[in-house]
Amino acid sequence: MNEYIRVYSDMAWNKVPIKRGVCKMAKIISGKEVSANVRAQVKKECDELKTKGIAPGLAVIIVGDDPASRVYVNNKKKACADVGFVSEEYALPAETTQEELLKLIDELNNKKEINGILCQLPLPGHLDEKTVINAISPLKDVDAFHPSNVGKIMIGDYHFLPCTPAGVMEMIRTEGIDVNGKNCVVIGRSNIVGKPMAMLLLHENGTVTICHSRTKNLKEICSSADILVAAVGKPRFVTADMVKEGAVVLDVGINRDENGKLCGDVDFASVEPKASYITPVPGGVGPMTIAMLMKNTLKAAKIQNNI
Ligand code: NAD
Repeated sequence: MNEYIRVYSDMAWNKVPIKRGVCKMAKIISGKEVSANVRAQVKKECDELKTKGIAPGLAVIIVGDDPASRVYVNNKKKACADVGFVSEEYALPAETTQEELLKLIDELNNKKEINGILCQLPLPGHLDEKTVINAISPLKDVDAFHPSNVGKIMIGDYHFLPCTPAGVMEMIRTEGIDVNGKNCVVIGRSNIVGKPMAMLLLHENGTVTICHSRTKNLKEICSSADILVAAVGKPRFVTADMVKEGAVVLDVGINRDENGKLCGDVDFASVEPKASYITPVPGGVGPMTIAMLMKNTLKAAKIQNNI
């Protein structure tokens, strides 16, 4: 027999059935906690490498004075210091030529103390990002943007995974969420997030659909997802009516809303009661990205030292 509570809404008292045993709260996956564990493991392995005389080193190149890029670069330098890596920053003026930038990358490709090279994007308009990415040695490409590394990810035989999708997978793994045979929907098809995200879910035997700006019936497709990843770049784009009851919802978006407040691509307030797991913004996928960059740099140091 059904039990009811009386709820006052729409100017009248209504009887609402109580669903006993049904949990209406999602587990919030803390990127702060998961990333702290990844960084602690990297630090431990870095300390071990140092006993063998190897100090992992990351070079970060920043061209121009984009304030968001400056924040990201500072965070990366701080993360390096925390895990015990050597970090070198190359802050170049906005008018740096392509030739000058490529010369620096060539020097860093050949610099023994540097294991990972990262060129902060976006670059000023006169520089060609594709040429710059292609110039970084694939073995030092800790962002995993080089076409050779992208190809390796396709065939599942890779050195490095792109940091943000790898961070999402780490959260999934840490929570013991089984991807095998699940309907996975990724909203967004960028080379940095959407496409590699879909590939990593596919490697874990998910049945993957990629949605994008031209997708028809987005709501219906998203509503079929057991695992939904949002990488759109639009504040609170994913609303509760797009989410299946009990879905795992992973929010990659980092946006500012109309009040300048940091928010994700998912409307957390309405989606959280429907989801089984959800990542918050801030404090979700964001901290994972830098932790995975540290993991890639450690791996680069090991590969280059034949460990
Ligand atoms: P992007 O602009 O390159 O790609 C956005 C994607 O969203 C595109 O593929 C586009 O087709 C799709 N899209 C746009 N409008 C849509 C719509 N109406 N319906 C369905 N799809 C639509 O962005 P990106 O680089 O992939 O980043 C996505 C978001 O993730 C941004 O908010 C970005 O700031 C954030 N991000 C976060 C991290 C992190 O560390 N957490 C890292 C990278 C990016």
